[in-house]
Amino acid sequence: MPPTPSMTAAVERLFAAAKAVFATAYAPYSNFPVGAAVLGEDGNVYVGCNVENASYPAGVCAEGGAISAMVAAGCLRIAAVAVVSGRPGDGSLGTPCGICRQRIREFASADTPIHVCGPEGLRRTLRLDELLPHAFDADSLNAGRAPELGRANG
Ligand SMILES: [Zn+2]
Repeated sequence: MPPTPSMTAAVERLFAAAKAVFATAYAPYSNFPVGAAVLGEDGNVYVGCNVENASYPAGVCAEGGAISAMVAAGCLRIAAVAVVSGRPGDGSLGTPCGICRQRIREFASADTPIHVCGPEGLRRTLRLDELLPHAFDADSLNAGRAPELGRANG
């Protein structure tokens, strides 16, 4: 088993929130529970767990739930993210899925830390731009928009 990196108090707080919500995940189909905690720039921690569905595509990711809670509370900037998945000591790296990397990017910066954890603690911290290099964002959209197509009725 690789050693568990030590955590700062701030990371410990985020990990504890993600681990608590990890226990409430609804994942009867994959048996892969996930808990996510987002530290908003307002100082509050927002959590989410994966919620699966018998109609598989209707399921939602833990990170998406946490981000929705943050936005619903009026906060639009992410300072850090912690995700908990896997079994204690299994060594897996349960990074956010591709769609969630994009969801996080909408409200975070290239250097926002993503703390990837197992139930026993922190496994690795990655920057968002390590998980999602050359990200597509609002600047990409604005730069590539064709102005003549944006006018109503020509
Ligand atoms: Zn996801």
